[in-house]
Amino acid sequence: MDCIFCRIIAGEIPSEKVLETDEILAFRDINPAAPEHILIVPKKHIQYLEDATGSDIEILGKLFLTARDIAKLLSVEKNGYRLILNNGKAAGQEVFHLHLHLLGGKESLGPMLTR
Ligand code: 5GP
Ligand code: ZN
Repeated sequence: MDCIFCRIIAGEIPSEKVLETDEILAFRDINPAAPEHILIVPKKHIQYLEDATGSDIEILGKLFLTARDIAKLLSVEKNGYRLILNNGKAAGQEVFHLHLHLLGGKESLGPMLTR
């Protein structure tokens, strides 16, 4: 298995877990771009959004609801937080296993297109 996130999900690489369900693992980004920087990852390996199908609708919805729950868990929901999905190389995707970034914990998260 050469996917870093699949290896984290399998427990082969340690991670700082924030929340886990049957379908989703959320853990801290190793190189945080904000005080709270969480990666929300479906356990199912989906490389790009283009690879998701109708049978993935539920898991895609759960990614967002899990992000909302984590924002609350980390008490960033009141000040606001940003969710980012980098899809493809030109968008800055480095790990080719679909995931949401949750960024929060500072007053300003900066301009729209930067982290
Ligand atoms: P992408 O650029 O693909 O949207 O985001 C990948 C993210 O995964 C980056 O922010 C990077 O810091 C993070 N990352 C890469 N390898 C690891 C790792 O082994 N552990 C953790 N916790 N985060 C990682
Ligand atoms: Zn994977």
